[in-house]
Amino acid sequence: MPLLVMKFGGTSVADLARIKNAAEKVKREVERGHEVIVIVSAMSGKTNELVGWVEQTSPMFDAREYDAVVSSGENVTAGLMSLTLQEMDVPARSWQGWQVPVQTTSAHSTARIEDIPRANIDAKFAEGMKVAVIAGFQGLSPEGRITTLGRGGSDTTAVAFAAAFDAIRCDIYTDVDGVYTTDPRIEDKARKLDKIAFEEMLELASLGAKVLQTRSVELAMRYKVRLRVLSSFEDNDEHSGTLVCDEEDIMEQNVVSGIAYQRDEAKMTLISVADRPGIAAAIFGPLASAGVNVDMIVQNISEEGRTDMTFSCPVNQVARAQKAMEDARTNGDINFHELVADTDVAKISVVGIGMRSHAGVASKMFDALAKEGINIKVITTSEIKISVLIDRKYMELAVQALHDAFGLEHAA
Ligand code: ADP
Ligand code: ASP
Ligand code: MG
Repeated sequence: MPLLVMKFGGTSVADLARIKNAAEKVKREVERGHEVIVIVSAMSGKTNELVGWVEQTSPMFDAREYDAVVSSGENVTAGLMSLTLQEMDVPARSWQGWQVPVQTTSAHSTARIEDIPRANIDAKFAEGMKVAVIAGFQGLSPEGRITTLGRGGSDTTAVAFAAAFDAIRCDIYTDVDGVYTTDPRIEDKARKLDKIAFEEMLELASLGAKVLQTRSVELAMRYKVRLRVLSSFEDNDEHSGTLVCDEEDIMEQNVVSGIAYQRDEAKMTLISVADRPGIAAAIFGPLASAGVNVDMIVQNISEEGRTDMTFSCPVNQVARAQKAMEDARTNGDINFHELVADTDVAKISVVGIGMRSHAGVASKMFDALAKEGINIKVITTSEIKISVLIDRKYMELAVQALHDAFGLEHAA
């Protein structure tokens, strides 16, 4: 029997009525002759509430207990989804991650899935069960502790199950009807894409578009999972939503296909660092050890043997970065005049495979921002993306201006 994976995000299971709505979609697929693995998120807002409780209880929390608490939201929706299906006469049962077991690394709060043994679930399908409901976002470490996969991790649970069970497709049901040229919440001219290439989706996700977790796109690309994003609030057919697919399967392609943003960035500058071989290692080594996710890096030209070094990181890691730099200074590993933190910046990125073969994207981007009087603080580029740091208060304006400048409202 063909097997389908259907994932429902937080807003799609936000209350009992919505769980019922989702269950009706599942039932329809069962009636069409599919076996279904359903992955559920916690009810919307629940995971944030749980994270808040952990932080209030223990600011320097034990990550193993964080995972024990924060994974619990999915347990509730998995059980409720299974009960709802049973009430509709659909044979269903629920599994928490450890029961499958979804085997992960022991990197608590950002664990990776290593393996999903099929035996337990296959046995139930063989007995006539039609729907396996899985609590998303969670797994089991080699030490036997509960782990979680990072925020948005149920997307990754879904793709990993689709790969493990050779699903015909992995459908990600959410509160928008597909992947757009940019977040439709901040640009109402954003256009829904019928298809997007894996590589572009991977960049957009890692640059802030939260519609899919980055790791889920990586897995889909690696295991050739047919991945689709669609709305849980509409009636869908096989053409609905956005298909994430190989580049070769897309006929028409704009040079730039999407714009992503990251709101909560910080720009840190070490003023007057001694410029000598090994200085970058002496700065970025301790930052990495302190768990600071450094993103962009710029080193200024040096004058009289001293230079300024700028880097960006998420705003909630600024305190950690400051401590790591102060400690390195105290140890005598680096010396600098001052560490200046600008905590009011955002990152805007334009992404498109077409950039490989088209020049002029960068200058068009910089022109469009200049016309709005937006100052660019840091720039980085790679083969298919350009990112800039700007003042956070211009973030929405910048996204809209770039969306216009690259004509994303209209298909190629
Ligand atoms: P879920 O709870 O279903 O996992 P998320 O909130 O994680 O849903 O992701 C869906 C949201 O992603 C949308 O509501 C939208 O605001 C946001 N988003 C950001 N960028 C995009 C984009 N390019 N296309 C579609 N949605 C996007
Ligand atoms: N509930 C988890 C979160 O909010 C996982 C998910 O919804 O994908 O991050
Ligand atoms: Mg999500």
